Order: sequence, then C-alpha cells, then structure tokens
Amino acid sequence: MGFWDELVDKTKQVGEVAGNKADELVQKGKIKYQLEKLTYTLKGQQRKLGSLVYGMHRAGTQNEKLLEQCYREIDETLAAMRRARSELNEINVKVNCPKCGFLNEPDASYCISCGYQLISEPDDPAQPQSAGGPSA
Ligand SMILES: [Zn+2]
Repeated sequence: MGFWDELVDKTKQVGEVAGNKADELVQKGKIKYQLEKLTYTLKGQQRKLGSLVYGMHRAGTQNEKLLEQCYREIDETLAAMRRARSELNEINVKVNCPKCGFLNEPDASYCISCGYQLISEPDDPAQPQSAGGPSA
C-alpha cells in the first residue's frame, strides 16, 4: 500500500483546486489495479477447475465437494469484480464544465465544447510555454 500512499501525497501536492479530481484518479487507479488482480485470480481459478474436471474425467472419479469449492471461489472472485466495477462507475461521473456547463467524459482534462482546462496542472518553471506571446 506504500506506493499508493506516496502517490496520494504526490497528487495532493499538485494543487488544491485539482485535489478532488486527483483523489478520484488515485481511487480509480486503485480499483483498476484491484480488477487486474481479480482477473488474474479468476483465470487461475478457472484453470484449476478445468484441470480438476479433466483429471476427474480421466480418472473416472467425481469429487463434488472439490468442484463446489472451486465454483464458490470463482463466484466470490466474480462478485468482487462486480463490486469493483460498480465502484468504478460511481467514480466515473461526467465532469461539468464550470465555464460553459458542457458534460465532459470523466477522464477529460479539457472541455470538448469550449476548451476550458478541467484539471489544473502544476506550473513547471523548467518548461515555459512557448506559445505565451510574441517574443522580442
Ligand atoms: Zn466548457
């Protein structure tokens, strides 16, 4: 969890205005990471079930208890994935542009309607914007 805590700290330093948005992004990252892990777990469980069924078939035996346990594990993983996805959907609310009121996609950094910057980025003194104005 140390990595995420560091990330939270770093993104919080980005700026007070972007704070909520940054928290959302971190939260989304966490859930996506969780979903990846669950997908991996599910694949492993499905493989296990597959080889179990095949092994039983080859040996001409049946072990309902073992199969039930596998089904339960898979059900639990699927339920956890559903929970994670609905959490993600709750975070994925569209962003209302404060300037023109247009509803932008959750990940949008700029309003597609008027170009207003929806996430303020940190000023980087090392890279001044070249399009800032006429140069002498
Ligand atoms: Zn706008």
